[in-house]
Amino acid sequence: MDLGLQDKVALVTGGSKGIGLGIVRSLIAEGARVANVNRSEAEGRALEAEYSQQGHDCYFIQGDLTDTSACQNAVEQTLQRFGRIDVVVNNAGVNDGVGLEDGPAAFLESLKRNLIHYYAIVHFSLDALKKSKGCVINIGSKVCETGQGGTSGYAASKGGINGLTREWAVDLAAHGIRVNTVLPAETWTPLYEKCLAAMPDPAAAKAEIERLIPLGQRFTTIEELADMVVFLASPRSSHTTGQIIFVDGGYTHFDRKCTSPSDITSFGAAAD
Ligand code: NAP
Repeated sequence: MDLGLQDKVALVTGGSKGIGLGIVRSLIAEGARVANVNRSEAEGRALEAEYSQQGHDCYFIQGDLTDTSACQNAVEQTLQRFGRIDVVVNNAGVNDGVGLEDGPAAFLESLKRNLIHYYAIVHFSLDALKKSKGCVINIGSKVCETGQGGTSGYAASKGGINGLTREWAVDLAAHGIRVNTVLPAETWTPLYEKCLAAMPDPAAAKAEIERLIPLGQRFTTIEELADMVVFLASPRSSHTTGQIIFVDGGYTHFDRKCTSPSDITSFGAAAD
């Protein structure tokens, strides 16, 4: 299937690692030109050089997105380099464990790490998106649907992203701009691997999480997430907007009984 992304320009936040890196690679594989915003330089510059050698654009922009001026600068640099923006992928974020006991100042900092820059990047890209009749894809999290405990800032941010997805889809429909969110639950990334490696029995911890994922008892891959993002970025999804799409192997919505280790799968079937 030709996704029609050849030479389109995508601004991706947090595209040097994890899910964002998968999104960048998939966009470039479809012929898109990418601007990639991150704090740390090493991976972003290496990625830029790797693609430059192959004749592709993966333009690195250094910036900490918690600073609103860095968001504005990222949009301006993308426009200076490419002259247009067709796709915005808001991806950078961190489950920073700012809970109820941490207080309002820490909560606000968490919103800056996870929510405010999603708004700022789209705000500063608005004129360019209107010109290109572009699209926005936000990366959310199951945490705002299920709760996790101890992570109020992240949960509120991700809930806010779902709300903004519907709000912006309405705002921007008249301009032909589509807005959608791709929502992961458990996606296997180097960071996830590092976190589990710090546990007393990493293999057992991984198996315990996998058991809870109905489809295939395995983590979602970065590529599976990226494929959905790239499809939503493409004109092949031209009538899809305001949607929150769970790429999670059924983790968030399926009946808990289907991943139960005990034999209760048929319990309650008559009543349900
Ligand atoms: P990751 O591996 O830590 O990658 C995050 C990327 O974002 C990095 O390249 C990081 O680069 C960049 N970044 C983070 N904060 C930034 C900031 N303030 N300014 C600039 N760049 C920043 O994370 P991931 O697991 O791929 O997560 C990506 C998205 O998926 C996040 O929104 C996360 O909430 C969501 N998600 C992931 C999972 C999962 O299972 N992995 C589950 C649910 C939701 P630098 O550190 O170099 O800045």
